[in-house]
Amino acid sequence: MQAIKPNIWNGVIREFQEFLPKVKDDSIVTLREGNTPLIEAVNMGEVIGNELKIFLKYEGLNPTCSFKDRGMTMAVSKAKEEGSHAIICASTGNTAAAAAAYAARGGLRAYVLIPEGKIALGKLSQAMMHGAAVIQIQGNFDEALIIVKEVSKAYPVTLVNSINPYRLEGQKTAAFEVCNHLSFAPAYHFLPVGNAGNITAYWKGYKEFKEKGIINTLPKMFGFEAEGAAPIVRGYAIKNPETIASAIRIGNPSSWENAVKARDESGGVIDMVSDDEIIYAYKLLARDGIFCEPASAASLAGVIKMHKKGIFKNGDTIVCTLTGHGLKDPDTAIKSSDKPITAEPELSKVVELLGF
Ligand SMILES: *Cc1c(COP(=O)(O)O)cnc(C)c1O
Repeated sequence: MQAIKPNIWNGVIREFQEFLPKVKDDSIVTLREGNTPLIEAVNMGEVIGNELKIFLKYEGLNPTCSFKDRGMTMAVSKAKEEGSHAIICASTGNTAAAAAAYAARGGLRAYVLIPEGKIALGKLSQAMMHGAAVIQIQGNFDEALIIVKEVSKAYPVTLVNSINPYRLEGQKTAAFEVCNHLSFAPAYHFLPVGNAGNITAYWKGYKEFKEKGIINTLPKMFGFEAEGAAPIVRGYAIKNPETIASAIRIGNPSSWENAVKARDESGGVIDMVSDDEIIYAYKLLARDGIFCEPASAASLAGVIKMHKKGIFKNGDTIVCTLTGHGLKDPDTAIKSSDKPITAEPELSKVVELLGF
């Protein structure tokens, strides 16, 4: 009989402990996040040609279905280690979902502030199910963030937005996984930019792997904002950011300067894509079997835009981070698709509709 080979993934803190701030083992709050697949795009030749190797880092397969889990395991574990009993965040939805789940897991209270009526249904349902105190602000994300910063200064509650440095420490592990999977660093890394924490974290991760000699080259970092929420591209804060991609509907990103640094140090670009371009890429991914939320598709929309500009060489390896799962936002999915056909339960009627 063949022996079973144990293949257990212990979550990003235990898997990458030598690269992360120390956490006492009994304070670690994990749902075994990370270890998400890097999936090669295969059905995009008509749009992008077959000369590029495009890999999709499918972060929607984390425990709460977005990359936010990587940072949240660090932030909540550290909060617990430091004796905190509660966490708070402002959120366009995914941070709230992750905060609620990890707080529940770790026995902490979670308070989440979200923009009223502006978050995708799946994310709201997660925050509610995990028992967070959900406060809907009659305003936008940027306004909610100002409030939670003040609250965390004055009251005994730990802020877990990405200005909490442990968040970015956890998030950089996605860059490690990309390198481990490819055995090298890609030429380009594309990702959506909202609060700009993730582009900052990936860049940090790649640089640390290079410093340790694990990789020899660094990728160019390409971040994409949505046209209606593109403060970094335009060079000024946007008061009323608007885009269908609710996860990146942010007008004044916390990690603005670090994102610009990641861009400049890597020789990359921060640019923007329209909602139409985002939806086009969102559907293209779905046609390749991969369902992500609209904001995630800004990365591939960016690749398409840059391909049109002719910046790539044959054989270039490009990684796109798909930040969240498509089921987070079923409304946009249904609005972007053909409606189901209704039929009477009769063979002839169905056959007629099938068009055989
Ligand atoms: C948070 C989030 C983003 C933006 O990440 P930042 O670190 O804020 O730039 C993009 N897509 C999804 C799905 C997200 O949840």
